This record gives sequence, C-alpha cells and structure tokens, in this order.
Amino acid sequence: MADNKFDVIIIGAGPAGYICAIRAAQLGLKTACVDAFKGKDGKQALGGTCLNVGCIPSKALLDSSKQFWGLSHNLPTHGISVENAKVDMATFIGRKDKIVKQFTGGVAMLFKGNKANPVTSYFGTGKLLKGNEVEVNGFDGSKQTLKAANVIIATGSVPIELPFAKFDGKAIIDNAGALDLDAVPKRLGVIGAGVIGLELGSVWKRMGAEVTILEALPDFLGAADADIAKAAAREFKKQGLDIHLGAKVSKAEVKKNVVEVTYADKDGEHKLSVDKLLVAVGRRAYTEGLLGDGTGVKVDNRGRIEVDEHCWTGVDGVWAIGDCVRGPMLAHKGEEEGVMVAELIAGRAGHVDYGVIPWVIYTEPEIAWAGKTEKQCKDEGVPYKTGSFPFAANGRAVAMNEPAGLVKVIAHAETDRILGVHMCGPAVSELIAEAVVAMEFKGASEDLARIVHAHPTLSEVVHEAALSVDKRALNKAN
Ligand code: FAD
Ligand code: NAD
Repeated sequence: MADNKFDVIIIGAGPAGYICAIRAAQLGLKTACVDAFKGKDGKQALGGTCLNVGCIPSKALLDSSKQFWGLSHNLPTHGISVENAKVDMATFIGRKDKIVKQFTGGVAMLFKGNKANPVTSYFGTGKLLKGNEVEVNGFDGSKQTLKAANVIIATGSVPIELPFAKFDGKAIIDNAGALDLDAVPKRLGVIGAGVIGLELGSVWKRMGAEVTILEALPDFLGAADADIAKAAAREFKKQGLDIHLGAKVSKAEVKKNVVEVTYADKDGEHKLSVDKLLVAVGRRAYTEGLLGDGTGVKVDNRGRIEVDEHCWTGVDGVWAIGDCVRGPMLAHKGEEEGVMVAELIAGRAGHVDYGVIPWVIYTEPEIAWAGKTEKQCKDEGVPYKTGSFPFAANGRAVAMNEPAGLVKVIAHAETDRILGVHMCGPAVSELIAEAVVAMEFKGASEDLARIVHAHPTLSEVVHEAALSVDKRALNKAN
C-alpha cells in the first residue's frame, strides 16, 4: 500500500480516537491518526482533552487537594495533628504535569507498540475531503493528502464561551486555565454548577479559596437522582462551597485584577467580586475547519456530527465518535464507540449499550450513577420500587471517617430488573462498576441481594440497598 494510503484514518487522538486507532491496528488494519493538540511545551501531546486538560489532570489535582484538606478536616478526627502545613504550588501543579506527560507519552508508545502494525501518527490539523481523503496541514509546514477506505472523525469538544465573559486566560478562565493556576486565588467565582464547576471548584476550595458557584437552573444537579443530589448538596454546603441556584449572570467585567460579576436571582440583582472566574457552562462539539466541500457529512443544530447508533454518518466509509457526536461527553463513552467502529470496519460485531453508561463526579463525597433516575421512571410511566442504604450505617465507611451519602437501587416493580443505581459516598466511582455489571447481565435487585459481599467493605452498602428494595435490609430498620 502506498505511504499515503490507509485502511483507516482517524482525525483526533482523544480517548475516542486513540482507542479506536489502537483497536483498528490490533485488527490488522493499516491505521493513521491525525491530531492537533499541542502540550505545554508546544510539542504533540496525544490523548486530547481527557489526558491533557480534562479527566487525568483534574483527578491529579483533586487527589492532591484532598490530601491537603484532609490535614485539617480529617486527620484531627483520628487524633493526628499537623501544624503549619504548606503547599508548594510548583510541586502541586508540577506533579499533575508529570502525570499528564506520562500518559500522553504513553499513547505515543502504544501507537508504536504494535510492532507488526504500528499506528502512523501525524501532528497537524486534518480536513475531510470528498471521497474519503484527508488533507493534513502539519505544524512543520508540510501539507499532504491521505486516503483511506474509512475515515473516523473524533475531533472532540471545546468549552462553551459566554458572550459577556470571554476567556482571557488570566482572570476569566476555562478548564485548562483552572488546572494551571500558579497561586491559590483568594476568591474564585464559577459559572455553572455542573461537573467541571463542582470538581474544579472543590479543588480550589480545598486549597483555601473562597468559592462561589452561580448556577442558572433552579435545581441542583438535575441529571442526577434527586435523593443523591440532595445528599451531595448538603455535604458541599458543609464544606463551604457557596452554590447559588437560579442565578442568571449578565455581566463579568475585568477591572484591574478583579472580575466584577453581575447576576440576578429571585431576590434581585447582586454583584460578586472575584480574583478568577471559571466559566464551566458546558462544552460544544468541535468541527471547525473539519469538513471540506461536498463531503455529505451532516451537522445537527448543536454543531454535532450526525450519526446512527453505530456512529456511521450515512456517507460511505465515514464515521464519527466521542464528544463530537450525540450522547454524554464522557471519555469511556467515546472509547467504547472507538472500539465498536474499529470492529465494525474489520467485519466484526460492534455495539455500545447507551442505556448503561456510568457517570461519576469526583467530588467529596463522590457521586456515581448508571441507568434511570426515579424521575425518569415516573416520567416514562415505568412501574418501579426503590431501596436505599446510608454509608453512616456501614462499619467500613465510619471507620474511614467518611459516613456521608447513600446508595439507592431502583428496580422494576413487577420483574425486579435493576433500572438504575445511584450513589453518593466514599469510593462510589469504583462501586458503580458492580451496578453496571449487574445491569448489563440484566440482573434483578434480588441478584445483588443474594451475592456475598466481603465484610467490612463499602460494597456492603450496595448489598444492603438491594436488600432494602424488598424491605429486608439487615442493618437498618425497613
Ligand atoms: P477530545 O478528548 O476532545 O479529543 C479530540 C482531539 O481531536 C483533540 O486532541 C483535538 O486537538 C483533536 N482535533 C480536533 N480537531 C482536529 C482536526 N481538525 N485535526 C486534528 N486534530 C483535531 N470524562 C470522563 O469520562 N471522566 C472524567 O473524569 C472527565 N473529566 C473531565 C474533566 C474536565 C476538566 C474536562 C474538560 C472533561 C472531562 N471529561 C471527563 C470529559 C472527557 O475529557 C471527554 O469526554 C473526552 O476527552 C472526549 O474524548 P474525544 O476523543 O471525543 O475528544
Ligand atoms: P455541565 O453540562 O456538566 O454543567 C454546566 C452547568 O452550567 C449546568 O448545570 C448548566 O445549567 C449551567 N449553565 C449553563 N449556562 C449557564 C449560565 N449562563 N449561567 C449559569 N449557569 C449556566 O458542563 P461542564 O461542567 O462545563 O462540563 C462539560 C462536560 O464535560 C460535562 O457535561 C461532562 O460531559 C464532561 N465532564 C465530565 C466529568 C466527569 O465525568 N467526572 C468531569 C468534567 C467534565
């Protein structure tokens, strides 16, 4: 095959694109991947938003800040005191940068690692042309045209910008800015009490900033089950995260080094002065300069590439996966779409179960869920029953000094099939996997209730919540 001819070309090396490339190469397809992301050193950094300015760096800072917060808020309960604890910001941020480099470099190694069929990597922007050609404008000034039977678009997403609070990278920042501050801001304002607002707001709150979050909607965490959102909101309030619901922001002016924010809620108009303003109001699919004339690829009214349930665009040999298409903007959703498309191209079966994609919010307590909420069951007229169990009645959680939160299981009222599992509490980012497996195997709450769970573990809360569906929890009154 000529050097510029491939079986598969992937545009974008975020988790959707790079996983797709690795799977395609494993399946023996000659694969190229074009990516434009530049790391802090200006060099190519594979892994997209997730590895560079998303999942991994945010979890690194969440962990560092949890350690710091624990010195004053957890250790004293254990009878341990630490005086004059200090933070070295260069090490705090540097640790995160090292982790990012390890994993972005890891993707480059994985591309080369399949010795029999390595993935060819291009550093530049890719543009889809008619007839499954991809024009690559390299950052070294080169320009070339590649051709493949199949092209997969995996160009991801970017933060939504508010017209009255444009990112300046200094005072008004996005996720990348909030992951790279050189000092703890005295006052941090956040627009949007969504996943990024809560996670990055928590990081800087734990490090000592006063954090005020302005959320336009009247309900807190509307996508989560209401019982879980309520339990989490109670804990965030205790931690001092100042969350204002129903807050409509109309202005954000940078005056010297201060951002003056104007917002209105049911009590009228308010002013808020902060040193940094993080705008985290959602992300939009990124397709700028991507589609040449006459490709036939369609974009919906939210700028997302239109695809069917198999991520096929409707154009022969053109597919799209990850954040640039419909569905939740989650790394694991994009990864599974990448695997599915590679397998379909290779003539195998490929499938993603969009009904059981877990969500995790890495706050303290953590929040996690899979499947339907109670409100969704009500709205859809699905007959259901619920059971729940608090971490406060679990020996392990109390021994860890992390008793906040609960697990709630929703099962079909007639068949007992698990419809949804919702969690708020310690390590629920890991516990949710049990629920996902049970749901994928079409399990009933009775199945979870009959499985032996080790004692004392946090997983006993899942067991007890499942028992509670049938009003037979053993360590609480039913
Ligand atoms: P991206 O990761 O956005 O990658 C797209 C890549 O394509 C980029 O490298 C981009 O430069 C490149 N590209 C775009 N256009 C072109 C072009 N024309 N030519 C060449 N290259 C191009 N999700 C989770 O599941 N768990 C988490 O804990 C989590 N935490 C997050 C924390 C933050 C702060 C943020 C911002 C996001 C987080 N996410 C998390 C979401 C997750 O990062 C995204 O869902 C995921 O990165 C999407 O993967 P993707 O491959 O579709 O796109
Ligand atoms: P989000 O959709 O989670 O939250 C945005 C919030 O901003 C919403 O609550 C929305 O009501 C609010 N909002 C919108 N416009 C507003 C306005 N003008 N004023 C005040 N509030 C406003 O979006 P995000 O937090 O920016 O994160 C983007 C996406 O990235 C997430 O939806 C998720 O898919 C992904 N992500 C995932 C994780 C994770 O899995 N742990 C972590 C971070 C990001």
